[in-house]
Amino acid sequence: MTTEKQKAKEGELLIGGKPFLGQKQARNLLTRSLSSGRLAHAYLFRGPEGVGKQLFARGLTAAVNCAAAKGLAACGRCSGCRKFAVGSHPDFMLVSPEKGAIKIKQVRDLIKKLSYAPYEAGMRVVLIEDIHTMRREAANSLLKTLEEPPEENLLILTADSSRTILPTISSRCQTIPFYPLTLQETVEVITRENEELDQETAMLLARFAEGSPGRALLLHRKDLVSFWKQVVELIIDPAKTDEQHVGLLLQTAETMAGLKEDLCHLFGLLRLWIRDSLFSHSSRGATTTMGETRKDWSSEQYFAKLQAIDRAEKELKRNCNRTLVCEVLLFQLQA
Ligand SMILES: [Zn+2]
Repeated sequence: MTTEKQKAKEGELLIGGKPFLGQKQARNLLTRSLSSGRLAHAYLFRGPEGVGKQLFARGLTAAVNCAAAKGLAACGRCSGCRKFAVGSHPDFMLVSPEKGAIKIKQVRDLIKKLSYAPYEAGMRVVLIEDIHTMRREAANSLLKTLEEPPEENLLILTADSSRTILPTISSRCQTIPFYPLTLQETVEVITRENEELDQETAMLLARFAEGSPGRALLLHRKDLVSFWKQVVELIIDPAKTDEQHVGLLLQTAETMAGLKEDLCHLFGLLRLWIRDSLFSHSSRGATTTMGETRKDWSSEQYFAKLQAIDRAEKELKRNCNRTLVCEVLLFQLQA
């Protein structure tokens, strides 16, 4: 179910025919540049992960290559739009990190391709993703192109705001800041993508993702919410001395350990749940938004559980035995 209030206005950036949500500042800036015909030659889209930088860049690419675009809105019907939609537009180039970094060879290949005129569109768009992964040597080889790309080429770079990028790169681009979405916008984006998602889960995912629909969708794909619910059920189960319960706890610890790098997301959900329960506990009767909790825990117990998660996280960073860390954590969380 979607609670979409926003209807597409003329000239608005569209993704799959629907208005792009969030990033009002970026939309306004680029609408103005497009309508005045003063597009910069290189943009740097900088913001947190999963807030729509790549999607926005693709929407902008479609708009600049559309024969009947109005502002940021591509028509979706012309030959340029159709080619772009099926990923076969000859004047759109994507450069993504290979094995974790943008390599110097990729930059050299790109420069070579840019020396030829675009095939058909008025403008060739090059999207270089995750520029923060680029090392100095590769970056240096891009500087000249970035400063003065061959005519009819637009470069869009994206970067994670939590990562450093070389000042030689950022100073040669117009930076467009991207921001986390509101809770409601996040819910709308993720329910758009997953129509079967119930509102409660969507809300939970959105809260945990802190304004990053990309992160919320990742959690959903990995089915972490249902596993988190299982863990919570186990923690609040009062039958904790029961042999069967202990067996289940050890088994759950093993599944947790198997999550590997996604374990941090589960920890995040557990933290959110504990904070929520603590808030409900200290405000006497305020309802929790994250399901059941144990009524007999004191504030001190809640704080001890938060600390136990912090400790587990530190131990994992020190490469302690993952299963053992999860076992200890589960016993502490249910104590
Ligand atoms: Zn079009």
